[in-house]
Amino acid sequence: MNITAIKKILNEVYGWHDAKIKQLVGYDTLNYKVQTKDKTCILKVYPYDQETLEIIKGESQFQKSLQNLDCEYPLPVTTLSREEFIVSDDKIIRCLTFLEGLFLVDCNHTENLISHFGHTIATLNLSTKNLYIPSLQAKSISWDLSNAHWSRDDLDYISDTHERSIIDFFLLQFNIHVKSIEHTLPKQIIHNDANDWNVLCEGEKVCGIIDFGDAIYSTRISEIAVALSYIMVDKNDPIAIGQTFLKSYHETYSLTTKELDVLYYFIAARICISLISSAKSHKENPDNEYISVSKKGYWSLIYHWISTNPILAKNKFRAACGFSINKSPNITDIISERSLHTPAVLSVSYMSPIHMTSAAFQYMYGADGTCYLDAYNNISHVGHEHPGVIAAAQKQIATLNTNTRYLYDPLQEYSEKLLAKFPDHLDQVFFVNSGSAASDLAVRLARNYTQREQLIVMEHGYHGNTQQGIEISHYKYNSKGGEGKLNDILEAPLPNAYIDGFNNNSNSIGIRFAKNLLQSISNNNSIAAFIAEPISGCGGQIPLAEDYLKILYPYFREKGILTISDEVQTGFGRLGNQFWGYEMHGIVPDIIILGKPMGNGHPMGAVVTTRAIGDAFNNGMEFFSSFGGNPVSCVIGSAVLDIIENEKLQDQAKNSGKHFFERMKTIQTKYNIIGDVRGSGLFLGIEIVYPDSKSYQPNTDLAKHIKNEMRKMNILVSTDGPYNNVIKMKPPLCFSPQDINIVLDALESILFIQK
Ligand code: PMP
Repeated sequence: MNITAIKKILNEVYGWHDAKIKQLVGYDTLNYKVQTKDKTCILKVYPYDQETLEIIKGESQFQKSLQNLDCEYPLPVTTLSREEFIVSDDKIIRCLTFLEGLFLVDCNHTENLISHFGHTIATLNLSTKNLYIPSLQAKSISWDLSNAHWSRDDLDYISDTHERSIIDFFLLQFNIHVKSIEHTLPKQIIHNDANDWNVLCEGEKVCGIIDFGDAIYSTRISEIAVALSYIMVDKNDPIAIGQTFLKSYHETYSLTTKELDVLYYFIAARICISLISSAKSHKENPDNEYISVSKKGYWSLIYHWISTNPILAKNKFRAACGFSINKSPNITDIISERSLHTPAVLSVSYMSPIHMTSAAFQYMYGADGTCYLDAYNNISHVGHEHPGVIAAAQKQIATLNTNTRYLYDPLQEYSEKLLAKFPDHLDQVFFVNSGSAASDLAVRLARNYTQREQLIVMEHGYHGNTQQGIEISHYKYNSKGGEGKLNDILEAPLPNAYIDGFNNNSNSIGIRFAKNLLQSISNNNSIAAFIAEPISGCGGQIPLAEDYLKILYPYFREKGILTISDEVQTGFGRLGNQFWGYEMHGIVPDIIILGKPMGNGHPMGAVVTTRAIGDAFNNGMEFFSSFGGNPVSCVIGSAVLDIIENEKLQDQAKNSGKHFFERMKTIQTKYNIIGDVRGSGLFLGIEIVYPDSKSYQPNTDLAKHIKNEMRKMNILVSTDGPYNNVIKMKPPLCFSPQDINIVLDALESILFIQK
């Protein structure tokens, strides 16, 4: 509708002959500011349809019901014939009173102002508590938080795949934590859009609220979530802003603990819907500044939100309203209860153990409200509770979960996707449920194929918790409680460039260790296989020295000794430069063991091998794993591979790792207790020693101290190695360079005090 047509209507229908008209920016409807000598109005133009007309009538009724309150609300301005709207040229046109005031977005958000805002919204809600307007009752829009899941259809408008996953995460959490109890929350007609462009202020008071275009019948807590999601933007302590608002809201109109307990998810959902909507509108309308104006602040708020423990938010929101908070159970009590039924051999991390309740990407949330940065869990590979994994699992578990004795598509789809990551001749895969089951099977395959018994294992190697797993794990059979080496086991000393460098030239260590090993087995024709991790985890995050495997593998092949690479820790892109650990050594094994990250926490393991080795195993005895390769596991494994690719997580591991090594170079020059820094991508180790340039002296106590101090600073790392003096870090691959900074700042602060 052009300005001339509008002027004509103002002239003829409203009797305003000298009106000045200015178009205003907005999301959907066309809005104009109309000024005559004696009045200012807002003229709104909507495309006509009967439903819109009924809704507009409902909005007017809502607005008129608010006229006796302290705060001002727009009122319909009638035509010469006292109509609140007209229909012309397939358009609905109406005028509303113009309210004076400063937009909340342009005001200093003082405590008084936020508090008054809370009071104003509460007053609005209280006064319309029993309002019944059928057209608003029946209205269904995407901005209604009850319909938050609708926005998932538009997720692709978020171009960054990790950001998309964060939004998806919150929408999924909303479904899980809110949807099941939503029907028990108080509902009423709400304004539903008290954003800081719709709230007018004077001094430290809210004096007007405009734009009833999103008014609906919905949960009352949505009203608060919308208001808070805007005023929390760009604040150091968004939760404190929420508390100020809630306190005064609750004083005016009582909230329930049920509402406060899910407010965290409502706020997240609103931010997510806004981000999706603005990404969509931006794509369709790149020049509209109004649309992208709050985007940046919203992203920092959502990042802040994901690093906020939902329990903390819940407790603070409750406290603001004077409700009691849920006290976290006493750790000593939990430990003693656990000890009743959980054998003591299952250890717990840290001197002060942590009671975990939930997690998100690189964060883990404790029962006491603490949010931990997880720099250590190498199982939640693509991020804790990644929505892509959850959605795949939920759908499949609700559809079919059976075993490989039946035919089903996910097995074939996943097998192909996984095997595409290997050279063509490695085209057989056995699925099991753990790394231990996989290494057990790998050894059976090798012994069966070669009809030999002996195995070469690596010093400090670990391959599993089964009887056979222990028998091939030097780290276990050679340590406390271990029963020593069996006759069939041959040990290969770990080529450790750092320790060996104290005595020898570390450059040639791989060649030297390989040659020594070959010499020791030169006349042995009973060896079935050689098993090793490309980077020794339990050995202290030690990459096998350069050239070591390159020399060994051709010899083994010539002698009919099978090569097994345990990729349980090194696989799936963690190393940054390579997808599999064996690739860093320029070799290709005959058998590969997979586990840990494969299912992102869902118990999965696999053995990948050649057709010849797989076929030889078909010797009359069936191989069956009740759970291995079940449809749920397959779709989860498939989702993990997709996420690694879509979110470019291998690159992320590479970049974050690079940043780690760059910063560690400087830190190492300042603190001589750091003996060695090693690893690849996000498989990292820091060796803590007593400084002595002539001999190797591991500093176990300091490593333990660092680990526990980090835990006090809410950062999770662990220690490993034969002397437990290596700080190990294998975080989820979404770990960013900023996260690395948090860890290393903490490390420096601990070392500085130590100095
Ligand atoms: N191999 C390696 C290298 C491992 O690190 C582990 C687990 N720490 C295993 C095998 C055994 O895997 P799981 O615990 O899934 O049985």
